[in-house]
Amino acid sequence: MQKRKFAICLVIVLLAIISSLSFIQRNKREEMQKISQNIMKTCPRYEMDVTFHPEEKKIDVFQTIEITNDKEKELKELYFHLYPNAFKTFDQVPFPRGERERAYPEGFAPGYITLKKLLVESRQINFEIDDTLLKIILEEPLKLGKKQVLTFEYEVVIPPSHGRFGCGQNTFNIANWYPILAVYDEKGWHKDPYYSVGDPFYSEVGLYEVHIKAPKDYTIAASGSLQKKYEEGDQDVWSFNTGLVRDFAWITGTSLDVKEVSAGKTRITSYYPKDKEVYGMQALDHAQNALFFFNDYFGQYPYDEYCVVASDFYIGGMEYPNLVIIGVDFYSPGEFLEYVVVHETAHQWWYGLVGNNQIEEAWLDEALAEYSTLLYYEYFYGRKTGQKVYEEAIFNPYKLYEVSNTPGPILRPLSDFTDWKDYSAAVYYKGAIMLMDLEGRMGKGKLQEALCYYFKKSLYKNATTADFIKALNHVTGVDWTDYIYNWLECNEILEKVA
Ligand SMILES: [Zn+2]
Repeated sequence: MQKRKFAICLVIVLLAIISSLSFIQRNKREEMQKISQNIMKTCPRYEMDVTFHPEEKKIDVFQTIEITNDKEKELKELYFHLYPNAFKTFDQVPFPRGERERAYPEGFAPGYITLKKLLVESRQINFEIDDTLLKIILEEPLKLGKKQVLTFEYEVVIPPSHGRFGCGQNTFNIANWYPILAVYDEKGWHKDPYYSVGDPFYSEVGLYEVHIKAPKDYTIAASGSLQKKYEEGDQDVWSFNTGLVRDFAWITGTSLDVKEVSAGKTRITSYYPKDKEVYGMQALDHAQNALFFFNDYFGQYPYDEYCVVASDFYIGGMEYPNLVIIGVDFYSPGEFLEYVVVHETAHQWWYGLVGNNQIEEAWLDEALAEYSTLLYYEYFYGRKTGQKVYEEAIFNPYKLYEVSNTPGPILRPLSDFTDWKDYSAAVYYKGAIMLMDLEGRMGKGKLQEALCYYFKKSLYKNATTADFIKALNHVTGVDWTDYIYNWLECNEILEKVA
């Protein structure tokens, strides 16, 4: 009888815990929805009809974008990035000089975008193109709270580069490929070019509806969710819709195999070459574990889809909303595939959901992605392995770099970095070392609390170093400003963390 009573009590307590947990989760979901609905009222809305011509390595696009002025004044001009123009001449392509042969293993050919038509509210309009920047001079200033629809018609020529934008033997990597609205913030318009070091992008979230017409033998992985796929003549049309995302990228090829699995409400799909199934499955596994873990640790991933795509890409991995590019060379024996997949998945939080100016403050997404990866290793493999990964992937490479170089500060604009080594040492390694030191000082639990707060406050926005510090201060009641800036701006040899 006593036992029975105890069992009944236990069931009641468990039910109460489960229902209060689901209540908290429902509340969190509703909170996220409210934030996103608010942003959707004024965010840019892109619609694109794309025709893909793989034989000619080009795409034709009809694009509209609805822009609402939600700034504090009139806008007399609008700026868009035309990133494909960075690939016009071999001398100026956005790859460091020493890497250009690797970037173009099949030889160089130009990539670019040609604007054929540009209308503002159905009227032809004056515009100027300066390499990767398009300036549109509006006839009537766009007043606060008003909308305008721009229509573009353009052709994009895809270069044979194994970078974010280009094609190789197996895949077409179509990223940073369309006219994307530049960011206008308290500093004005951000008109940065396509730097050859770092991820030189800064954008705001928007909504995308993209229809891609492609030959039937092509498989497409893209940002957003596939709404439908239908035949049109001898072609397939793939229609994608996104939630609030800060870019739209797609990868396509004829020999990609696909496997999928779910993590909560998100479907994860791994795309890989047919002869790499074992690694394609591993990538899927790592992505699933990472998504589960980060969902729990930082906050819920709100999207339905996440794609991990093996591609002809020589720079490691690269993050886009709902999609990450993983260099196909990682689909081979060794431990690197897991590290890269987890790092890129962490970017879904730090870059994707919480954006930042990757030109001015790259540490915010890169150091946080590295730190998140270390958390993952510690969680799944234990403290000892976590420490080993930290030493081998972060601390020792940093110390090695210091042996023959004087590392510069973490906080520098991309134009100040000499090469990828300089950038990785400061932004990835030293940035992550700082976060590990911070964890040691404030405690892992408190840092987690601060990151959850930072995530919640900056969801779908662009965060700054100041926002990060605000989160630390909020959860600890201590001012961390000097501590963080000492780390970010210091030039000295690192001795404090071992
Ligand atoms: Zn990264």
